[in-house]
Amino acid sequence: MTSRANQTPSLSCVMPAFNEARNLDVVVPQVLAALTALSPRVELVVVDDGSRDDTVQVAQRLCALHPQMVLLQLSRNFGKEAALTAGIDAARGDLVVMMDADGQHPASLLGEMLEKWKQGADVVYAVRKSRADQSRLQAGLTGLFYKLVNWGSHIEIPADAGDFRLMDRKVVQALRSLPERNRFMKGLYAWVGFNSTAIDYEPLPRADGQTNFGLGGSFRLALTGMVAFSTAPLRLLTALGLLLAVGALGYGAWVVIEHFITGVEVPGYATIVAGLMFFSGIQLLGMGILAEYVGRIYEEVKQRPAYLLSQRTGDGLIAAGARG
Ligand code: UDP
Ligand code: MG
Repeated sequence: MTSRANQTPSLSCVMPAFNEARNLDVVVPQVLAALTALSPRVELVVVDDGSRDDTVQVAQRLCALHPQMVLLQLSRNFGKEAALTAGIDAARGDLVVMMDADGQHPASLLGEMLEKWKQGADVVYAVRKSRADQSRLQAGLTGLFYKLVNWGSHIEIPADAGDFRLMDRKVVQALRSLPERNRFMKGLYAWVGFNSTAIDYEPLPRADGQTNFGLGGSFRLALTGMVAFSTAPLRLLTALGLLLAVGALGYGAWVVIEHFITGVEVPGYATIVAGLMFFSGIQLLGMGILAEYVGRIYEEVKQRPAYLLSQRTGDGLIAAGARG
């Protein structure tokens, strides 16, 4: 453990970029400066996730300027999770750190992260101190989401921890060995485990542009995470079905008894209509939840790759195969 203290590991930074042309010019030099201050062998892997603006042109120009930079171009927009996967597949450093391309993750924290690694942590993840940059509704929904996924699951996905993290090579290899196509990274990080330490940070405002994860996008990601990391919804269905069946049985018995006590036929068409609608609603909901799982199984069995590369530019400064 302590032997790490005098090591200078090579560093890879993975940076997914979707329509970040105006941010890369600022963020890339900043991050490269922070990296090179920490190690002589560094690379910055920028993954263009099928951007529709000039991200590729800007990144190519930066590549020509900075030999430490590598540009991976995905064949289309695969989403942040896939872009991160592409980045860590290509990263060659002893340590891999992931940062957003919009400048929200302060590069000044890299030194502290490396320090924690030297003290023995295999994963150092940054935890946002506040959600001041989000609306109350969004922050509330995020909290609810983490409660739901962690409920009834044996792994704990820490709330407020994102993709801004430093990982040892062995953690990266573990992540890469997971075959699933549905790459909900926050869940995968928690699943692989390892000795993890948190550090606090205050996310900076986005340098330029807007977040790609509005309410809709966040909801889709939450659903993916939920289905991939929890069977609680399925169990909830079982419980609900059981409850309703027992309730219906009880009610049926009561109607029969009532008939014999009072001798009155219960005029029940309103009950029938309400009951019918309620139970078809529950059935559709149940099918929907099942379909979420079946759909994910379908995605997995197709065995399509998580991403496709269309081009690679630059070598980075870490030679392939070189370790130490
Ligand atoms: N991103 C990506 N593909 C996408 C959406 C986003 O690679 O389809 C990248 C984006 O360029 C940024 C990071 O993921 O570097 C985080 O995105 P964003 O800032 O929109 O999300 P937020 O910071 O609000 O979570
Ligand atoms: Mg952002």
